[in-house]
Amino acid sequence: RSDTAMYRAKEKNGNVLRVYDDALNTEVIRNIELEREAYAALENGDFYLALQPLIDLKTQVLLGFEALLRWRHPEQGLISPDEFIPILEKSVFMLQLDYWVIERSFQVLKMLDDEGYKRQTIAITLSSAQFLDPVLSEFLQKMFKRYQIEPNRIDLELTERTLVSDIQTTTQLMSDLRRLGIKISIDDFGTGYSSLSYLKSMPVNTIKIDRSFINGIVTNQTDKQIVQSTINMVHNMGMLVVAEGIEDVCQFNLLRDMQCDKAQGFYIAKPIPEYELIETLLLIIRDNVWQALPTEKCEDINP
Ligand code: C2E
Ligand code: MG
Repeated sequence: RSDTAMYRAKEKNGNVLRVYDDALNTEVIRNIELEREAYAALENGDFYLALQPLIDLKTQVLLGFEALLRWRHPEQGLISPDEFIPILEKSVFMLQLDYWVIERSFQVLKMLDDEGYKRQTIAITLSSAQFLDPVLSEFLQKMFKRYQIEPNRIDLELTERTLVSDIQTTTQLMSDLRRLGIKISIDDFGTGYSSLSYLKSMPVNTIKIDRSFINGIVTNQTDKQIVQSTINMVHNMGMLVVAEGIEDVCQFNLLRDMQCDKAQGFYIAKPIPEYELIETLLLIIRDNVWQALPTEKCEDINP
């Protein structure tokens, strides 16, 4: 029990006091169980991808999707990746699951090609362990061959936390991936410790502004200014901007006026389970344009 409490203290970077209580134990047991069950879940097909569309803010053309991992647990139902990923990240199994996500993403692209949705891209969120894994580049090259997918249709998302650990190594690894033709995005931009100076030196294609800023752009002047200056700065550096977490027409219109490039969020679509993807696209896509944006007026939401 003291060991359990000690590990909790260490998770907070130490130098804190943690007293053991039973709740801590229940949590530890659940984490151990989830970790153990994850192996079987992968075998049983309980993991799947949900695909969230990214569209061009001006033309509403569908550009591609972000792959988001889902776990449907036989007893507990759907478990959020925000819950299971931090638990599994502590085990070696996570890397195996990360590679499964990559291969599955290629299969989704192949399915889209076969159904006539050509040239779509897919963004995959990389954990820092996978980004640093020496076999990543080799694995990706194998996938390009196996599924006949061009490298520029794969966009690897890295969070700021992954970037700051070792700038030199990060820049080197990014350059290696870019040389293969792969695109690189910075996810959750603004929530970490980004420094503009190293952003300038990194071979990044796209910046994804975190939804916590998008959330406030219509009502909060500071958020609006932060987002506008980020868009201007990123454009000046020759990169593109994605706004994450757009939830209504006001945010959507404002971001379009602010010259943001791409849009992602519940206003356009929630992540779509892979097994419903094609039937959803059949209803929503005409001439490659996303048709189903809710038609409410901005004044109806924000009088
Ligand atoms: P993320 O990469 O920032 O992904 C975006 C998250 O925002 C997704 O949550 C998505 O459902 C949610 N989202 C999108 N639009 C909106 C919106 O308009 N409003 C709100 N409130 N939320 C929105 P999800 O799928 O629960 O994933 C959470 C996080 O889990 C992801 O954040 C990512 O960090 C991690 N994750 C998911 N799949 C993977 C994976 O395959 N590998 C790794 N390493 N991490 C993953
Ligand atoms: Mg992401």
